[in-house]
Amino acid sequence: MSIVRKVRAIERLFDRLDGEIKVFQQTSGLHCYAGCGKCCNKSDIDASPLEFLPLAFHWFINHEAEQKLELLNQEQSPICHIYSPLSIGHLTNGSCQIYQHRGLICRLFGYGASKDKLGQLRLVTCKLIKENQLESYEKTQQLLKDAEYVPVFSDYYKKLAQIDFHLGNQIMPINEAMKEALEVVLSHYAYRPFPRPRKKAA
Ligand code: SF4
Repeated sequence: MSIVRKVRAIERLFDRLDGEIKVFQQTSGLHCYAGCGKCCNKSDIDASPLEFLPLAFHWFINHEAEQKLELLNQEQSPICHIYSPLSIGHLTNGSCQIYQHRGLICRLFGYGASKDKLGQLRLVTCKLIKENQLESYEKTQQLLKDAEYVPVFSDYYKKLAQIDFHLGNQIMPINEAMKEALEVVLSHYAYRPFPRPRKKAA
């Protein structure tokens, strides 16, 4: 599958997930706090290169890929390179600079479930939500017990890996995943013509 087709397939998967998350948010009543960046300001976020292929492709078609790769190579911090904190004094308040192209992990966290050893679904969310939205959180735990639909991490990662088994099954620190995605795009187009711009929907 070509890079363009992979990017489109990942974007379709993300659109589907975003739709499911919207429904799940309405059913559960759970929501992130405006301006909160606590989950992005973590040093142990792992991701696959494949989920950042749309971002790498976006940078590439905007002629930013080499520059971004250089910046990522210079990055010393394990915190996501894309996260922009409000200020030094407020590191957990901030925003994602490329929200539209964020990865699968970024979309699932807070609104996705993982399966425990017994196959029971557990919501993967943050302390803030658990403590401050207790009623909605408990309602959600019950919804999961009642087998109400929730996006499941492992299911979505399996769907992602169907697009590219190799790139979808490598899990590494988030900045490494972005670098790997950029390297894949840059090496793919090293000897190929620049991709044609996407046709605008009528
Ligand atoms: S890509 Fe965006 S949403 Fe994902 S961890 Fe980085 S800053 Fe947060």
